[in-house]
Order: sequence, then structure tokens, then C-alpha cells
Amino acid sequence: SDVGSQKDRVVTEEEWLEKWEMGNIGFHKEEGHPLLQKYLDVLLNGRNGLRIFFPLCGKAVEMKWLADMGHSVVGVEISEQAVKEFFSEHSLPYCEEPVPEISGAKMFQSTSGNISLYCCSIYDLSSSIVGKFDGVWDRGALVAVNPCDRQRYASLMISLVEKNSSYLLVTVSYDPNKHKGPPFYVPESEIKSLFG
Ligand code: SAH
Repeated sequence: SDVGSQKDRVVTEEEWLEKWEMGNIGFHKEEGHPLLQKYLDVLLNGRNGLRIFFPLCGKAVEMKWLADMGHSVVGVEISEQAVKEFFSEHSLPYCEEPVPEISGAKMFQSTSGNISLYCCSIYDLSSSIVGKFDGVWDRGALVAVNPCDRQRYASLMISLVEKNSSYLLVTVSYDPNKHKGPPFYVPESEIKSLFG
């Protein structure tokens, strides 16, 4: 498969912030993602009270779903606007505090304590800051990462999961010569080589 036309494309953090400011967020799904409902059992695998990570979380409503089921949700998102919209759209009170290990980063936590959203770049995180996770919902995340950063992203994600974790990944399949992305086209062979 020819992904040559997307290989060098870069979307900067400023461009993402601008998308949020302009309301250019066609990726956001108000009703949540049907594939999470479909594969919820695979993610949970009969377990309760999991720590679930949402990389590049935006204001994904699935974070609320999983928290309401008794899981503990952690997300990371560079847009503070997105994080604040998440809490306000679900009428969730929250507090915000600096993250001592990451200069300029803030952590927004629901008052109930079960949803923590880091406002910083995902590349600033490590397991010593956020711990390790039992489950990952990766939708609009690997496919939103710049192609040149994919290896770094995948290595980081692998370092953030527990041994017996489940990782649900949503990708999109299309002709990469017809659309510049994001979402980028990530061929299955590349996913295999990134995650093993
Ligand atoms: N997963 C969400 C959002 C997908 S769009 C959903 O399913 O709706 C990708 C999101 O990643 C955007 O909100 C963008 O602001 C954020 N983002 C882009 N680069 C990032 C980075 N390096 N670190 C953290 N968030 C980032």
C-alpha cells in the first residue's frame, strides 16, 4: 500500500488548538463510538475497576461512559478548551492543578476523582507520572499522530500498559492518495510492526 503522500505530513500542536477554537472538530462523536459498545467485553475481559487510558482524548464521551461503569479514566489532550468542554458538557465539577514533573502542564480531575485529564502533549507523559493502565481506547489517536511520530507514540503506549491489558485500536481504511489526513491511513502491516 502506498502511503508515500502522507509520510511527511505534519500537523502542529498550534493547528490542533486552532481546530478546537474554530469548532473544526468533525472527529468528535456526540453519541459515542459504536465500536466501543461492540467490543466493550474485549476491553474489560470480565474485570471491574480498571484504569483505562484515552490517548489524545479530545472530549470523547466514552470517558464518561467508562467512569460511570466504575472504571478510573485517564486522558491526555493538548487543548485545554477540549478538556474544559468535556467537564462542562457533562456537568461534572472538577479541579485543576499543575503537574510538577511537566512544566506548563495541568491536570483536570473530576471532583469524584475518577476522571483525570492531563492537558499537555502525550510525549511529556511517562509511567512514572501516570502509572500503567489495564485498558486503552485508541480512537482518533494513532491515526491522528504525525506519521513521523508513530514509532515514538507506539513505544510510549507499550510502556504505559500493564502485562494483562487490553488495547482497542480504531483505524480507518482508505486510499491515502485521495485525502491528506488526519485521520491518517495506517496499514495493518505497520500496526503489527509497531505493536508486535
Ligand atoms: N480521541 C478523540 C479526539 C480525536 S482528534 C475522539 O475520539 O474524539 C485528536 C486529538 O488529539 C485532538 O483533540 C488534538 O487536540 C489532540 N492532540 C493532537 N496532538 C496531541 C499531542 N501531541 N498530545 C496530546 N493531544 C494531542
